[in-house]
Amino acid sequence: MSELWPGRHGPNVDYISFPPSLSWQTTFPRKIVLLGSTGSIGRNALAVIDQNPELFSVQGLSCGSNAQLLVSQASKYRPPYLAVATEEVRASVEDALPANYRPIIFVGREGYVRLATVPEATTVLSAQSGAAGLAGTLAAALSGRVICLANKESLVLAGSLVRDIAALTGAALLPVDSEHNAIFQCLAGRNQDVHSIVLTASGGPFRGMSAAQMANMQPEKALAHPNWKMGKKISIDSATMMNKGLEIIEAFHLYGVAKEQIEVVIHPQSLVHSLVRLCDGSLLAQMGQADMKLPLAHCLSWPRRTQEVTSRLDLARVGQITFEEADHEAFPCLALAKRALAERGGMCVVLNAANEAAVELFLHGQVSFAAIPRLIARALDAHAATSPGHQPFCPPLAGRARDLNDLSRLVREIEERIVHLDRKSREFVRACAREGERTC
Ligand code: NDP
Ligand code: MG
Repeated sequence: MSELWPGRHGPNVDYISFPPSLSWQTTFPRKIVLLGSTGSIGRNALAVIDQNPELFSVQGLSCGSNAQLLVSQASKYRPPYLAVATEEVRASVEDALPANYRPIIFVGREGYVRLATVPEATTVLSAQSGAAGLAGTLAAALSGRVICLANKESLVLAGSLVRDIAALTGAALLPVDSEHNAIFQCLAGRNQDVHSIVLTASGGPFRGMSAAQMANMQPEKALAHPNWKMGKKISIDSATMMNKGLEIIEAFHLYGVAKEQIEVVIHPQSLVHSLVRLCDGSLLAQMGQADMKLPLAHCLSWPRRTQEVTSRLDLARVGQITFEEADHEAFPCLALAKRALAERGGMCVVLNAANEAAVELFLHGQVSFAAIPRLIARALDAHAATSPGHQPFCPPLAGRARDLNDLSRLVREIEERIVHLDRKSREFVRACAREGERTC
């Protein structure tokens, strides 16, 4: 099946990992842990599993604090392991579970790490939101698991680290993010002849507006995505177009392409999920309904295909699809992400943390929509002024670890540096917001 896998070490593309082992590819039911099962991606993944019960066996589920939903999922699938954010949540989950079902419940960051590495599971869906997803992704990679990766922030924060770990442990990554999944499908075995990859973007709920028109938009409007139903944080990222900015960084690390080989085009209907431009001028596109069950089914059952998981796209009814240029002036987050990727030295960590902090403040009504990019820009400027810059924040791992313990220790050290810079950047943004919006 390697003809379906994007090329490694190619002149134009260098995919982040090797394919999963043949035994993984052919063993069903596939034993899966879902990190973030109560979220939008987690619920869609369980819907795919429900539609194909013979292909999957759920070994673990997790939430942050939504004990009620976790209890209902756990009571249905009865996995041997669960994980939650705090002791308090653990106690409520334990109380509410049926008396004849006693799973092991892990707690906190360590708990998610334990869940990501339980020996029964071969496959981990990384679908926690934001930087909180990093620990689980790194742990799954260190344990050589097959990772269905929705949590794009893991690659924004530590893309080169994940790549290095995968090379050493044999972990394999399958991209769930719809654009990257589309590119994965279009690349099918290629590592040459690729000119560039083209990420499509819906443009979000404020497409066509000027910066002034959207400056004071309220959270309800920003959350109302025209095509996709998603978690709150990623919905705001779509409104600011930071989501596409993060996806440029995600594509850079996943496909090992040059920054200049990543294009962005607005496609309001969200039916073409992304494209690959070949050197002779051909464009390969992947299309389908705007439904995350499609990329989830593709990753979870790869290289097999499941039965239809969503309604069939009726092209004649679609009628027309359109493309237009992105408005960089109205959506400054795109340029901020490109800047962070170009400058390295922890800038992507700062970008992501500042964005998460600013989005949270916006959702709580503490800053305006227009303040989000301003706060991120200030955090990037402040970091650039104090750090040497252009140095890789995640130093290469190759040749530095004698064994797996050593590797885990090195990874933990780097993760702690990331977490420290992440915390500092969030504090910086909150302090700026406290100073007053006008100075942001
Ligand atoms: P949601 O907010 O809907 O769900 C997030 C999940 O993570 C929930 O299970 C939530 O638990 C859990 N969680 C949140 N915070 C923490 C924390 N601090 N510690 C542990 N667990 C936590 O997010 P989405 O499903 O929309 O997104 C998940 C990831 O997938 C993100 O990285 C996003 O960028 C990516 N993605 C999402 C897409 C989508 O269509 N939704 C598309 C492409 C990528 P609880 O329910 O208890 O809060
Ligand atoms: Mg996407």
